[in-house]
Amino acid sequence: MSEIKYDLQIQFGTEYGPEEEKAIVETLRKNAPTSGNACIQFEKDFAEYCGTKFARATSNGTASLFLSMLALGVGPGDRVLTTPVTWIATAAAATTLGAEVDFVDIDPVTYNIDPEKLKDKITPNTKVVAPVHLYGQCCDMDAIMGLAEKHGFAVVEDACHTVGGEYKGRKAGAIGATGCFSFHEQKNMSTLGEGGMIVTDDAALFEKIALYRSHCTRVYGKSTKYCSLDETKFPKGKRFWWQDFDDTGYNFRMTDIQAAVGIIQLKKLDELNQRRIDNAAYLTAGLSDVPGLTLPKVMPDCKHVFHLYPVQIDADVYGMNKEDFVYTMLNERGIKVGTHYIPLHWTTAFQKRGFRKGQFPVADSVAERIVTLPINPRQTREALDYLIESIKALKK
Ligand SMILES: *Cc1c(COP(=O)(O)O)cnc(C)c1O
Repeated sequence: MSEIKYDLQIQFGTEYGPEEEKAIVETLRKNAPTSGNACIQFEKDFAEYCGTKFARATSNGTASLFLSMLALGVGPGDRVLTTPVTWIATAAAATTLGAEVDFVDIDPVTYNIDPEKLKDKITPNTKVVAPVHLYGQCCDMDAIMGLAEKHGFAVVEDACHTVGGEYKGRKAGAIGATGCFSFHEQKNMSTLGEGGMIVTDDAALFEKIALYRSHCTRVYGKSTKYCSLDETKFPKGKRFWWQDFDDTGYNFRMTDIQAAVGIIQLKKLDELNQRRIDNAAYLTAGLSDVPGLTLPKVMPDCKHVFHLYPVQIDADVYGMNKEDFVYTMLNERGIKVGTHYIPLHWTTAFQKRGFRKGQFPVADSVAERIVTLPINPRQTREALDYLIESIKALKK
């Protein structure tokens, strides 16, 4: 195995600097609270960035999806539709609430859910459709929102790959009933390895999300009924009187140290995303003449923020299949290539629920061929040159 020269063993993630270090220490000196002033500031900044009325920080993207569906009333007897080509969390949010999940095949160019095929899967029980803005590019949201209006289902956007991405000038996550984000270590911005956010314009939905995120608790003041949705913050000037719980809920809160880092990461996000976009353009230019590779296509309505850089390999033309490519790149070139994703209908979790390989032909065919190349903002031009050269060298 060749010496690892560059950061090509790490596919994803963000970059932290001295600003984050300073914020961590400052929050630590304030005794590192949970859901305090830093969270409130982060939520305010995030809502403003997305152009939504509300944002609530959560412990992770899975919690964001779960809380969104819970607040929309998803439960047994309901149907939730999503793509099979996603991280399992999108579908798990629905199954763990007792709903039935069905998948809709993907578009062969964008790899996102195909609105034409979505039409055929809608039934009267369809409560939520969860489009996933895969790899950093938004789904065809006009088509999906049109169907939502016609058939009366809610749209929960899984924008975990696409923070800062845009569809027709609107931010990913700001179009559906809610938009769900993850700040996991691999995502385009991170809050120390875990974290999430939900955005919405719907006040009633937001209240439910806020309640269930934190045990459905309300703190009542002596003279006013409703005071605060955060049990950690007592209303100014009013003496604490009584804490009550509307229902039993969850604890999906974010800590202030995470939020303090999130505030800074959000300030850097556009610049970090621009480096991804530039890296992607560089890879596309460098690989466009390699036979047998299908490179990602940026749609005219979208700002693609390249969470990942997907490439399909045609083994007959390139001379090597996906499996051999991934193995050889790692063992001979020291480059870690990803395989996102194993489609959910191939997994034990969904085979148990009656799904089988071959059921979604586009997703099946893409999954046989797709690899994802390292594209994070820490990659240097030198590293990208080595990556391009390696892919050319392996071509038979
Ligand atoms: C990361 C991710 C999630 C889940 O986020 P976590 O913060 O890891 O819980 C959901 N959907 C997609 C598409 C993701 O990539």
